[in-house]
Amino acid sequence: MSVLDNITRKVTDTAKAAAKRSGSVVEVTKLNMSINTEEEKVRKLYTEMGRQLYEDYNEGKMVGDKLLEKCEKIDEIIGNIDMMREKILELKNVKACPNCGMVLAIDMEYCYKCGRKQEDIDQESEDSQELTNSQEDQA
Ligand SMILES: [Zn+2]
Repeated sequence: MSVLDNITRKVTDTAKAAAKRSGSVVEVTKLNMSINTEEEKVRKLYTEMGRQLYEDYNEGKMVGDKLLEKCEKIDEIIGNIDMMREKILELKNVKACPNCGMVLAIDMEYCYKCGRKQEDIDQESEDSQELTNSQEDQA
């Protein structure tokens, strides 16, 4: 066998192997995509199960100890989110209607969506702070 023959055969073999490999690469890619799709479905179901469980917990239904911990953690996180939302409104100098959640100018007395009278909580807390300060001054 000549050196040239040998090289030619090697090249052919390599090309064949590469073709086979690229075929299986496509197959593997397809399978991985299918796995991702299926895993996404599982994740969605997990989320739905969790949401259902949290709703049950909020309705006062019994949940297991470990799950109860998670539900309480969610309560805590939702509380944090609410606080941050309030902070954003404060920074934007607006407020949310406690009844319908409509964003209103800070000085609006009534919600223009649901008509609920707004309590100016900020004003009250500032007043009470001033009161505390003046009491301290007197003491
Ligand atoms: Zn409202």
